Amino acid sequence: MIRAAIPGLPKIVLHHPVLSVTAGDEFMEAYHKAKRGELEAPYVVLYEGSVADESIAGRLGGYWSAMGMEYSDDGLHKPIPTAHWLRDLAPSAAAVIAVGTCATWGGIPAAAGNVTNSMSVMDFLGEDYLSALGLPPINIPGCAPVGDNLTETIAAVLMFLVGLGPLPEFDGLGRPAWLFRDTVHRGCVRAGNYEEGVFAKNYGDPECLVELGCWGPVVQCNMVSRGALGHNGGCMNTGGICIGCTMPGFPDAFAPFYKSPPGTIVSGMASRTVGSFIRPLRRLTQGKTNWTARWKENENVPSGWGHQKQGVVEKISGFFYNKLQHSGTKFSPNSKTQKKLQESGHSFLKSDSKTKQPEEVA
Ligand code: SF4
Ligand code: SF4
Repeated sequence: MIRAAIPGLPKIVLHHPVLSVTAGDEFMEAYHKAKRGELEAPYVVLYEGSVADESIAGRLGGYWSAMGMEYSDDGLHKPIPTAHWLRDLAPSAAAVIAVGTCATWGGIPAAAGNVTNSMSVMDFLGEDYLSALGLPPINIPGCAPVGDNLTETIAAVLMFLVGLGPLPEFDGLGRPAWLFRDTVHRGCVRAGNYEEGVFAKNYGDPECLVELGCWGPVVQCNMVSRGALGHNGGCMNTGGICIGCTMPGFPDAFAPFYKSPPGTIVSGMASRTVGSFIRPLRRLTQGKTNWTARWKENENVPSGWGHQKQGVVEKISGFFYNKLQHSGTKFSPNSKTQKKLQESGHSFLKSDSKTKQPEEVA
């Protein structure tokens, strides 16, 4: 994106305190120009971290978070709080994008007890805030957010801002709707275990983690299906439970972490009950599908790895399963239609046909 490799995207200049090659006053120059309205280019504000109440720190003679210096005529200088940058730059910005759960909802600094009176970007800017191009704050939550969610949203918004794409769909809380519509659970690699009522008892177990404290069934996040970085990793993919870090209620609504959510009592019991019927039935079907047509005919699997046999139960259940599976179709294996077609094929091969073997032709 920064190298302008995506067709249609405008050229982007990233001013980031960690990633920019410039530092000090030279780095801050673009910010001051934007504040004075002299940048001569549209800009987008990406804000990370919650917005702490600088009046509290100011009373104590300090600041919570600052970037750049303000010089006064008497030669003194003082740090400029990042909250002031947000206040000054947001009105003329093409868009304001809050990145990460602290910026989007307040996060851990704004949890119960909140001594710094921290708040989210949308709380700070207020309900009536609209950017210069008419957008409320855009929220990309996550602690840390999925990197691809950020770049994809920025790209979609920039496409809209230059008139090359529609306004991306955002939900009522300003989240990119296509990224935060589904729950973690729906995309989880362990969801099949949940459905069959098989739950992990210890960390490191491969089954569903709900009884170890996973909140995935109610949390809107695409971490597991998208991967943490470059489509790799992601909480449950690597054995971690979901603690709801993308949600506005995080962390209080999910505490204490590592205690199973109360809803698990009902849903877990339901899954266990259904699963106790479903699992044995699926094992039977699975056993049946592990046989080739030849092995079935010979009633033997020529494998040196283990003794593979079909017992009476498997044979009887397989018989009825096949009946159900093939009912209503003429083209199932060993049906009359299939046998007729095979017979004509066999007789064609056996006949003294015009088809010659390659050596005969030569
Ligand atoms: S580990 Fe969590 S997200 Fe995955 S299936 Fe279990 S409850 Fe759902
Ligand atoms: S899966 Fe849960 S803990 Fe992991 S990033 Fe998503 S919301 Fe946060």
